[in-house]
Amino acid sequence: MNTPRTVKEIIEPQMAMEGAGVLLRRSISPQASNLRDPFLLFDHFAFNTPAEGPITGFPMHPHRGIETVTYMLEGSVHHRDSLGNADLIGPGDMQWMTAGGGILHEEMPRRGESGNIFGFQLWVNLPSTLKWSQPRYRGVSAEDIPTVEKDGAIIRVIAGEVDGIRGPVTEIAADPIYLDLRLAPDTQFSYPVPSGHTVIAYVFEGSGLLGADESPVSATSMVFFSDGDDFQVKTTDSPVRLMLIAGAPFKEPAVPYGPFVMNTQAEIMEAFNDLQRGTFIWNEADPRFKQG
Ligand code: FE
Repeated sequence: MNTPRTVKEIIEPQMAMEGAGVLLRRSISPQASNLRDPFLLFDHFAFNTPAEGPITGFPMHPHRGIETVTYMLEGSVHHRDSLGNADLIGPGDMQWMTAGGGILHEEMPRRGESGNIFGFQLWVNLPSTLKWSQPRYRGVSAEDIPTVEKDGAIIRVIAGEVDGIRGPVTEIAADPIYLDLRLAPDTQFSYPVPSGHTVIAYVFEGSGLLGADESPVSATSMVFFSDGDDFQVKTTDSPVRLMLIAGAPFKEPAVPYGPFVMNTQAEIMEAFNDLQRGTFIWNEADPRFKQG
């Protein structure tokens, strides 16, 4: 059975200010309605003019109950966390951080040679069984992300599989697909996606015709799809570049508050109490926390 997905909704990202004053384009934000389950947030950092001021970044802050996924194309982000990791996420690098039961981290952008900072952060939910799990940090450098060229499409495979080539990010609860997809003009590309999974496409360069209905979409837009088992994109006279992201919904209640997404309001209160008492960070001696 082949049911191509059609475009259900196209939204234009809204400017938002986060961290210690970082201007970004936000297209999904955590909501109790959880309409994009398992995806909670999608931010696009794109700044390049000195008028945008000094780069302040995201000083040390907590996360619990989610995974944060950072992918950089220009410039870099310096990361430090309570697990002891310190890493520079540079152009083409990806970081998949599972906050689990509790982590503190710092994310500080740095301009590249071009002066630009261009990257993305996605938040993926965790199921209730993993919200108290041991945090995990995975840094993937650009050379470990395979590139597949196929019929005019150039695909960086971060998570998922293209023609038997598997991306380096595996063993994630949401069973994600994450492809950085570039299409030349007059090109068609289709990709099998599991039925029932949530599929989003973030178009950030050029324009293309998305879905079986060939909806015209131009940068910069976030696209949501109907259910089905095939994703399709086509170009005419312009190239297009997009992130194709898919994941399995957990179908659980989501209670988001700032950097936490839990299943109940009581768990949000517990996160604040933990921060106050100094018991926030995952600790195997604390019986509330589970092994990952
Ligand atoms: Fe963070």
